[in-house]
Amino acid sequence: MDTPYLLVDIAAAVAQYRRIAAAFPDAPVYYAVKANPEPTLLIELVKAGCHFDVASRAEVDMGLEAGAPPATLSFGNTIKKAEDIAYAYGKGVRTFAFDSLGELEKLAEHAPGATVICRVLASSKGARWPLSRKFGCAPEMAVDLIRWAAAHGLDPAGVCFHVGSQQLDPGRWEPSIAEAAAIFARLAADGIALRLVNCGGGFPVDYQTEVAPIEKYAAAIDAAVSAHFATRPALMIEPGRYIAAPAGVLHTEVVLVSRKSYADEPRWVYLDVGRFGGLAETEDEAIQYRLTTPHDGAVTAPVVLAGPTCDSVDILYQNVNYELPLALRPGDIVQIHGTGAYTATYASVGFNGFPPLRTVCLPMVGGDADR
Ligand SMILES: *Cc1c(COP(=O)(O)O)cnc(C)c1O
Repeated sequence: MDTPYLLVDIAAAVAQYRRIAAAFPDAPVYYAVKANPEPTLLIELVKAGCHFDVASRAEVDMGLEAGAPPATLSFGNTIKKAEDIAYAYGKGVRTFAFDSLGELEKLAEHAPGATVICRVLASSKGARWPLSRKFGCAPEMAVDLIRWAAAHGLDPAGVCFHVGSQQLDPGRWEPSIAEAAAIFARLAADGIALRLVNCGGGFPVDYQTEVAPIEKYAAAIDAAVSAHFATRPALMIEPGRYIAAPAGVLHTEVVLVSRKSYADEPRWVYLDVGRFGGLAETEDEAIQYRLTTPHDGAVTAPVVLAGPTCDSVDILYQNVNYELPLALRPGDIVQIHGTGAYTATYASVGFNGFPPLRTVCLPMVGGDADR
């Protein structure tokens, strides 16, 4: 098969869903569709009982086309066009996130009576792929916004937050859960009974190094909820990376192995996929994928790894130390593991004439959907 392509093992993604669902028995799992919206994947996740976090009109359609009942979709993006809110509402979506008065005004008008969840700012410290300050509002503002929502015919259910993607520290959810409890308490005094804490995504996967098992994250979140809430709220989680990443292997071919001088410096290895072909998360070398080659076990030496385009930011790794076999030659297939999330949809449509990353699905074997 022509490279590059992303091979997605649907059964592996469903197994990840089942594992995180089992680790969080009290929290429905809303898969963040943006991580990998492959139709076959979405269909199998629906069959397994998964709900969806969607962020756009197109993702609403993808969820519905996969067979998800509209009540199981949560429109989690806090930045939505009024017509997209109306569209989702018209399709039966009833859960929306917000973090500003402007967004609440749109929701009150175009999604009357909808359940709304207030996104509160959270620190991304400890995350390999932080989400910065783009989403969420300060707790004092959340309190006012939730009051406004209740007074304008909406159903404010609670709060949501996201601690940053590939969050390595199981303790990072606790401060936001404490903040949520304080918001609940302040609003209870006004007679507004909140009931839901959406703990977002961020759950990490193994790339080069092993992360703590998902059960550790679940236990830390459970302990934080018990510590800060007298009455346990309903919970939900929105994993994206955790479900999709381990299911994908990007197959790429070595285009060139070269050196920049006769001095002994790292070889440069150019692959037929790079920053623009789907490996956007190598920006700042944030996500460090595990690689395998046909020469594994042979002698290795340091390399700079780069993509095929004529843009100098199209370098995957030059500061972190990557080593590849000295035997590596043009035409060899390099497998990039853990690439099932945030790759295919990040690929450019045709920079330098390179087509977007193709996805090939390894389908579920018939009848094992209920394993
Ligand atoms: C992207 C996103 C997620 C998924 O995050 P991961 O780190 O991939 O688990 C969850 N919730 C929201 C609102 C998101 O935007």
